[in-house]
Amino acid sequence: MALRIATGAFKSSRIENLQVDAGEPPLNFRRYYLSGNYVAKVIYNINNPMRDIIMNISKHGRDLIFVNSPKPLAVRFSEWIDLKNIYPLLRLPSCPYPPWQIRFPQFEKISASTKHSVLPQEFQLKYCEYINKNRQNNSLVCFTDGSKSCRGVGSAHKINQEMSTYRLNPLSSSFTAEAFAMEMCLNNLINHPIADNILIFTDSKSLISSMQQLFCRNILIHDIQVACHKLILKGNNVKIIWIPSHCGIAGNEEVDKAAQSFTNAQIYSLITPVDLKAFLKNEFKKKWQIWWDNIQPPNKIKEIKDTVKEWQTSNRNLRKEEIILSRLRIGHTRLTHGFLMERTDPPQCEVCNTTITVKHILCHCTKYTQIRLKYNLNNLQIKDILGDNPRTIDLLFKFLKDSNLLPKL
Ligand SMILES: [Zn+2]
Repeated sequence: MALRIATGAFKSSRIENLQVDAGEPPLNFRRYYLSGNYVAKVIYNINNPMRDIIMNISKHGRDLIFVNSPKPLAVRFSEWIDLKNIYPLLRLPSCPYPPWQIRFPQFEKISASTKHSVLPQEFQLKYCEYINKNRQNNSLVCFTDGSKSCRGVGSAHKINQEMSTYRLNPLSSSFTAEAFAMEMCLNNLINHPIADNILIFTDSKSLISSMQQLFCRNILIHDIQVACHKLILKGNNVKIIWIPSHCGIAGNEEVDKAAQSFTNAQIYSLITPVDLKAFLKNEFKKKWQIWWDNIQPPNKIKEIKDTVKEWQTSNRNLRKEEIILSRLRIGHTRLTHGFLMERTDPPQCEVCNTTITVKHILCHCTKYTQIRLKYNLNNLQIKDILGDNPRTIDLLFKFLKDSNLLPKL
């Protein structure tokens, strides 16, 4: 009902068409999504009593017990997705450290310019200047980088000349790869003798901004902050410095290559809560898309929209236009389907002598051929006219105004 009010669709429009037009999942799918989020939260909390129930539900038991009664969350979830292989790989949170006691490193950047505004040579120069200014007798220069590609996820860090590489769980994000490289670098530095200056270069701005947050919920970032804190307590001066990637700065290029190659890499297969949540969200989207793929034609909106994703063009400046667009895409307008409400016969086109449909008006009706030509809509299919192209949608509204069709829809 809320979707019908929001999209302005008629009551004759089918509910699944409204949902796809609005980019909103059906309620049973939304339930999957929410339960996935909840399960991802609970299984990382060893004090939560639900954790054992969710993790120990067996395939065998669930069929016997819940024949006639509603199935509990853990059973429903285990029917949807089998996480058995993932349970041993959870990266559980370490002991929380009071954030007000944590000492932060210094955050710097070699240049205030952005990567696209200056030449790589300028960054190389800035890097050399920075190193000359900050490198003292007893300094450690480190680089960290992470990479995610179709071949896998890798992390690398370099402390002076010593390179270490890791191969991560394929579910890890590129952010996790960057953060893990930083964490391993800091953990290795703990065993080094005290240095006046530890310079750690990274090309990840998002990692640096997460490291600056006082209350970060990502357990990887929390552990990085604690590792930094311990290094500083030992008497080291730690600086985390941003450098642009792919600008020919030797150390950065080396770790970048190492993170992509994984040769002789150590395996680290634990999964963080953020990555597990992202994986479950992705599975939910796949399931939702399969549902839409299996909806049988005839279905007018399916001819236009084959994805369940929300379309940007559905949002317009005028609500009136949003309603019209939604009605056109669903194929139910006042002009074509008003007869259902008035209990009369379907409307006929006087010029072409055929039943009026949205497709007929926009693509075929000879009455509007000239106006279609004027706005370059003449050779387009219905899929192209009502698709997610902002320019075509603007032309479509000009066509509708010019042909006086707008108030009739
Ligand atoms: Zn016609």
